[in-house]
Amino acid sequence: MSRFFSNELRTLKPYTPGEQPKVVGRLIKLNTNENPYPPAPGVIRALSDDQLDSLRLYPDPEASDLIEAIAENFGIRPDQVMVGNGSDELLAFAFFAFRNDDNIIVYPEISYSFYPVLCDMMHLEGIKIPLDEEFKVVPSYYNHAGGTIVITNPNAPTGIALTRAEIRSILDNNKENLVIIDEAYVDFGAESAVTLIDEYDNLLVIQTMSKSRSLAGGRIGFAMGNAELIADLNRIKFSFNPYNLNRLSIKAGIEAIKDINYFERITRLIANTREHFVNDMKRLRFTVLPSESNFVFVKSDEISGEDYFKALRKYNIIVRYFSDPKIKDFVRITIGTPDEMKALVDATKEILEAR
Ligand code: PMP
Repeated sequence: MSRFFSNELRTLKPYTPGEQPKVVGRLIKLNTNENPYPPAPGVIRALSDDQLDSLRLYPDPEASDLIEAIAENFGIRPDQVMVGNGSDELLAFAFFAFRNDDNIIVYPEISYSFYPVLCDMMHLEGIKIPLDEEFKVVPSYYNHAGGTIVITNPNAPTGIALTRAEIRSILDNNKENLVIIDEAYVDFGAESAVTLIDEYDNLLVIQTMSKSRSLAGGRIGFAMGNAELIADLNRIKFSFNPYNLNRLSIKAGIEAIKDINYFERITRLIANTREHFVNDMKRLRFTVLPSESNFVFVKSDEISGEDYFKALRKYNIIVRYFSDPKIKDFVRITIGTPDEMKALVDATKEILEAR
């Protein structure tokens, strides 16, 4: 740490992303919830030579074409949409913009580990609300939470989703607080809260193209909420990084959101693969939390989370292990192609048999 680093930030523990190996080659990469299928065909066609030529020009700082395409897809108005460089950026803008007077952010104890990092960095007090013994988010625990609430739905790394009615109850019992619903994984089976944005001025929904639209490398997130909330987020964006989306990502995002058939086909395929995989893992006596996302959280009484993670690595399969004592028995496995999941199940059989 240099002697110039801010004193206020000296204790900051940055977020550790999942491993991104330099050469993917023979690896089966099931550790960061990417989509195993390519982006929609239109995305690939859109990134033509003309687009590359135009890189000398700044992008549209408002990303209006992309915002219109997203608004049309969800049947909402463009002034109810904002885009970010990944949903991580929008989360950062939202934490910064919507801190309450007490600087409190409330989120589930087991959830996306970027939230506590943002709190640390912005000097916000993160209040962690426990899950129940089945690892579920309990809506009533959030009644009058006393700060801005952030809920991942479906939750990560558990994969368990709240229903729209449950989200509604959190909104009803927190009229005085903003509720951010992080829907990074919603398209694999859960109910989106976006249909509620006209009804609740305290709701901000954040989604991403990284998972269901196969564009993790394009870094495109979007937030949806009432026009005033969106205008506030834009106040932060234009004070921080006005050209937050690059030209190629704007183009890619438009094509990805327009191809509804492709989106529905690959999300359904992943959900089907998940159901088969869950059955296979249960047959191998694993506990599998009920997932509505593109990953599953599993544990076995026969092998620790860490040992299982390390053993799979020897088969060139990467999954995600978390050392947090509350979830250290589990590993999180992204749903890949049926062949990738079969390779993982076969490796798991061998690992268990060798013990
Ligand atoms: N929210 C959750 C719950 C996530 O797991 C992730 C992915 N790490 C994100 C947001 C951020 O996704 P991105 O920045 O790629 O949109």
